[in-house]
Amino acid sequence: MIKPKKVLIVDDSSDALALARVRLGKEGLEVVCADGGKSGLALAAKERPDLILLDLDMPDLSGFDVCRALKADEELCMIPVIFLSGSGGPEDKVKGLDLGAVDYVTKPFDAFELRARVNAALRTKHMQDLLIEYAKIDPLTGLANRRALMERLAQEWARIQRHGGQLSFIMGDVDHFKRVNDTHGHLAGDRVLREIAAAIASQCREIDLPTRYGGEEFAILVPDENAEGAGRLAERCRQAVEAIRVTVGSETSRPTASFGVADAAAAGSAEAMIQQADEALYRAKSAGRNRVEGPRPGLAAANSTP
Ligand SMILES: [Mg+2]
Repeated sequence: MIKPKKVLIVDDSSDALALARVRLGKEGLEVVCADGGKSGLALAAKERPDLILLDLDMPDLSGFDVCRALKADEELCMIPVIFLSGSGGPEDKVKGLDLGAVDYVTKPFDAFELRARVNAALRTKHMQDLLIEYAKIDPLTGLANRRALMERLAQEWARIQRHGGQLSFIMGDVDHFKRVNDTHGHLAGDRVLREIAAAIASQCREIDLPTRYGGEEFAILVPDENAEGAGRLAERCRQAVEAIRVTVGSETSRPTASFGVADAAAAGSAEAMIQQADEALYRAKSAGRNRVEGPRPGLAAANSTP
């Protein structure tokens, strides 16, 4: 079942709140109410609504102030705002739209107009959410892409800085991938990449983030594990890739991949952790491919080739 859309109404008039709650409740929307600007901002942060209906005239904070605060907040700025106001002056409308509101409804509002404007804003929000989601997915493999990885890496790095804990990073690269493309063609190459993506994802826990880093490179962000734990995951991925058979015509492609592992403990920054995983991957390649290398030479994570 689809989760109902959540609408936050911020208005100091209890009549307006009650009316809007009833009208929108009938539409199957989940409605939450705040009776002032400050409580509205707090509720927006807590509830993360899909849409905010915002009264212009309130005693503690004006609707303009609330809108400004919402738009300045990285977490809340994408929530569409519709202003509600008793006055219908063009200056207020223009100012509201300039502040980033998507629409404006004059009170006392007509129930049909309110419903239509709310639904239009929610449709736009839905498309926007899809675009944001698609922008983070690699279309070929369906894995998260590098953009999503870098975002999540920044969050996880900040988390361990604040609260401590472990974080690891795995970099993987398909061995001799150019040969697959040259021998079997690019469509076969795409199939191999999709199979490898699925094999890697199948070994990851819910909290890990397997991603297509680019080309034939895959990266996995591994929270709550040091390099030894992440090394075991990399080894399982290596084995899962080794088991893949992609048949093209009369020939069968048997891809393998090499992996490098690093952890936050040995790196001073998120960038350094990626760099160290990259270096470990390079060692795995030089040592013969189809293997896992740990963060420090001679300290191979969970090696590996039988
Ligand atoms: Mg008011």
